[in-house]
Amino acid sequence: MESLASIICRVLKRMLLPTEDLVLLHSPTFNGNEWNYVKECIDTGWVSSAGKYVDLFEKKLEEYTGVKRAIATCNGTAALHICLIMAGVNRNDEVLIPALSFVASANAVKYCDAIPHFIDSEEATLGLDLEKLDVYLNDITEIINEECFNKQTRRRIKVVMPMHTFGHPVRMDELLKVAKKYHLVVVEDAAESIGSYYKGTHTGGLGLLSALSFNGNKTITTGGGGAILTNDESLADLAKHITTTAKLPHKWEYNHDRVGYNYRMPNINAALGCAQLEQLPEFLEKKRVLANRYAEAFSNVDGVRFISEPINCKSNYWLNAILLDERYVSELEKILSMTNGSKIMTRPAWTLLNRLTMYSSCPAMDLSIASKIGSGLINIPSSITLAKNI
Ligand SMILES: *Cc1c(COP(=O)(O)O)cnc(C)c1O
Repeated sequence: MESLASIICRVLKRMLLPTEDLVLLHSPTFNGNEWNYVKECIDTGWVSSAGKYVDLFEKKLEEYTGVKRAIATCNGTAALHICLIMAGVNRNDEVLIPALSFVASANAVKYCDAIPHFIDSEEATLGLDLEKLDVYLNDITEIINEECFNKQTRRRIKVVMPMHTFGHPVRMDELLKVAKKYHLVVVEDAAESIGSYYKGTHTGGLGLLSALSFNGNKTITTGGGGAILTNDESLADLAKHITTTAKLPHKWEYNHDRVGYNYRMPNINAALGCAQLEQLPEFLEKKRVLANRYAEAFSNVDGVRFISEPINCKSNYWLNAILLDERYVSELEKILSMTNGSKIMTRPAWTLLNRLTMYSSCPAMDLSIASKIGSGLINIPSSITLAKNI
């Protein structure tokens, strides 16, 4: 009988080969005005902390996402850090985050001297399991003066930070309900989900604040970059202030009214971003074509589920993923080795954050589903260019 590894390898090869080179997991596409805009920055000398493209990129992001304000930053992690500061996270507060996430989610919490508290995920969306979270919080917290306290650690729980895994939106209605019930501020880690919608609202538009990433491997890229989104005008002004060294406007004086950060996005990166945003609708269409093709190709493979967008949602399909049935998780290594050996790049899920040394003593709930997803998930090639063969 053919092994699952060889079946998966065959399905992927049929879809993605022949090719001379390694099929990457996610490579960027530059088909538009990138060169023109970046060249203009260089020709005029406006490459750094001033120039028209940052403002333009922010405006275009606002128009695209429908969120009132966007503040461009030097990367997504910096955006998350500022979101948490503005959400009121203080030293020794706890922040609820999925254990199944990229390390930046936990690092941003640590930068605030706060403590990540790891929450389980669900198989359907790969995001937070809200019913399980409700039961858990009901058990371990008490509300004092409209603030949520962890009875076990006696620390305040200030924020819940859902992450829209690979672009698949978390069930935000349920999340907002839990947040309200326990007096938690919602910060969305929307780093992976530009172009994803929950019931018609762009991801990042429902939390008080949210963060996007434009790293080189994301759906659109600025080289390195990120953005803070918020519908709150005064928070937006504050975000702009904090990310630009908290300098007070003046013709020549250097006055700063708090410890600020140099987290601003350089103009040259924003120029790239403007060109990428123009192509986003086309990128999303192609990603959908690729995802549909994967869904079909894996529909008859026993023991494998292709991760499709949750109901009432539109996913950007940033990174496509398959999930092995529990019966086959022992095959994971073999599948990774066989596909990567056939010039098709595949990757396992992130190591659960609570298993990383620096976060191993942080509070965590039962993480059995995150653990199960973590041991059976495989990301498969998702570059926009792959849709051209189809
Ligand atoms: C990419 C990413 C970030 C931020 O990434 P940067 O590389 O700092 O732009 C944060 N959280 C998640 C879940 C991500 O995937």
